[in-house]
Parts: sequence; C-alpha cells; structure tokens
Amino acid sequence: MVIVLTDNATEEDVELICEKVKSLGYGVNVSKGIEKTIIGVIGAKDEQKLILAQQLESLHSVEKVIPILKPYKLASREWKKERTQINVNGVVIGGNDVVVMAGPCSVENEEMIMLTARAIKAANGKILRGGAFKPRTSPYSFQGLGEEGLKVLSQAGKETGLPVVTEVLDPRDVELVSQYTDILQIGTRNMTNYPLLTEVGRTKLPVLLKRGLSSTVEEFLLAAEYILSRGNHRVILCERGIRTFEQSTRFTLDLTAVPLIQELSHLPIIVDPSHGTGRWQLVPSMAKAAIAAGADGLIIEVHPEPDKALSDGAQSLNIPMFQTLMEELTKVAEAVGRSL
Ligand code: PEP
Ligand code: MN
Repeated sequence: MVIVLTDNATEEDVELICEKVKSLGYGVNVSKGIEKTIIGVIGAKDEQKLILAQQLESLHSVEKVIPILKPYKLASREWKKERTQINVNGVVIGGNDVVVMAGPCSVENEEMIMLTARAIKAANGKILRGGAFKPRTSPYSFQGLGEEGLKVLSQAGKETGLPVVTEVLDPRDVELVSQYTDILQIGTRNMTNYPLLTEVGRTKLPVLLKRGLSSTVEEFLLAAEYILSRGNHRVILCERGIRTFEQSTRFTLDLTAVPLIQELSHLPIIVDPSHGTGRWQLVPSMAKAAIAAGADGLIIEVHPEPDKALSDGAQSLNIPMFQTLMEELTKVAEAVGRSL
C-alpha cells in the first residue's frame, strides 16, 4: 500500500505516520519526490488492506491511501506514475534519448579496451561496457581479469569521458567493483541471487539488472524490488533473451517485455541484442526493433577483432559494423520521436 501525503506535510508528520505504521506491525519506505512525499507500507496482506487504508486515511497530512495489489510494490506504476530517469554522470537513462552502451564482453587487456572505448565514443555511444568478473558456463573458460580489468576499464572510461558499466558476481566484491564503476551490472545468472541483490541495494550506484534467462516478467520485477526495497532506487532493467524451445538462436529475445514492463513499472528498460541472439548477424535488426518497441537503451557487444575474442566473439560486432549500426539507429530513433 502507498500513503500519499498532502503538499504541506512536515518532516514531523512523516515521522508520526511512519511510527504509526510500524506500531501496527508493518514496514515503511519513504520516498520524497519534488512535489509529494509518499510512504510505502510493506507487509500488509490483501485482506487487511481495506481496514488499514481506512485507519491510515484518517491520519493528519494523509491525502490518500492506494492499495497496491501487485506482488512488487516500489517497482510498480501504481507506486510511481512518472517514469524514472536515471542520471549517470550526465547521461540520462529513461528520458527521450535512447542510450547506447557498448564494449567488449570481457576486458582482455589495456590496449583493446582503450581502442574500443575511443571507437565507441567516436560513434556516439554513451556508456562503455566490459566484464572483469565473468560468469562463464564452463569453469575452464576465461574468467576475466578481475581487479586488473576493472582498473583499465575505469581508465578507459576516464580518458574518453564515458561512464562505465561492469558486472559484479559476488556480494563480497560489491565494495571493490563499486570503486571502479559507474553502474553495477547484475547478470542473468544472478538475477535470483538475493544476497547479491540486497548488497547492491545498499549502495548508491545505479544497478543494471538483467532478466534471468528463465524468469517471468513478474519474477524480474520482484528481483528489482529487492534492490529498491534496500533503498537504492536507481535500477535499470535489461531484457537479454530467455530460454525457449528454439535452438537456432542462443536465447529468444522477448521484445514484448519492453512495452509490457513500461506498462507495469516506472523503471527504465534497455535491451541486449547481443546475448539475446548470440549471433552478430542478427544484432543490428534486433537493435533497431528494440528502439522501435520503445526501449530506453541498448547494450551491445563490440570487439576490435571478434574472431580473437576471449568470450562471446560470435555475437560481437567489429568497430566498422558498430559505426554503421549507430548511423542506422539514429534514423530509427528519429522515426519514433526519440534521439540517440
Ligand atoms: C554480459 O553482459 O557479458 C553477460 C554475461 O550477460 P548475461 O548476464 O545477460 O548473460
Ligand atoms: Mn558477453
């Protein structure tokens, strides 16, 4: 349930209402907007909501009480009607601009990440991606450079002025990774790692949360709720393909999730056509389709020499292909009233 306060509610009113809710045995989550303060009531069962709403509506400074019937609360549109915009060092995700994040699957060495970063910047990419801790299906595959990779990624970001995004795999590494990145990425395999979600929810950094490869949209939004409910409201969702019976692509990119999530949630949603297809040949079409479907951004794997990539070469664009794609995406964005 959500308690919406009147415009003239004071700090003291907020305190008193929170105390009252807690004394009734429920949790609270206060969200102070520019115009309104909203208090989320956590833990009320559906059958308790009507009576509770009446009790709370009679309190001083309460404008109205809205019961939220969805299992996720803070992620829902009922909780927050305006779409959330997340500002990462001046790059706004969730606004009119479609934000393109790009870079290699893994940071392999200083030279390749610098080269790629410069090319991404020159092609109008806005955020640099690169994995230093890699969640590989086989324990014998390249696992990433670890802290050394974070250092050169962060360096490449600073030199080009691009904010960076990188994955954190382990709750014990959240502090370390946070020192080097502007956005923490939670990969598909960790979407249900609740201790990790809780840990990133305690940070102040934006979180790029990828959809679990076998997760429903509801489970996806509940994973976001873990982060939001720990006090971190800067969550960017990412559709990256799900497992289906189809074997001819690596995953099945569920573009329906984009408008659906925008209906259900106020959080921005971006699309990963690289993991979503697994084949570089399919990436441009799906990137364009994602923008046409209303995505707030894209995350695309780019490698200077995909044939030699230590991970995900088959789905990586080379630099000229990325440049061409960016030109095409600019036109698609314009056609749907957005810009790149
Ligand atoms: C990645 O972005 O390189 C990655 C491993 O993605 P996902 O978690 O979606 O597989
Ligand atoms: Mn990858």
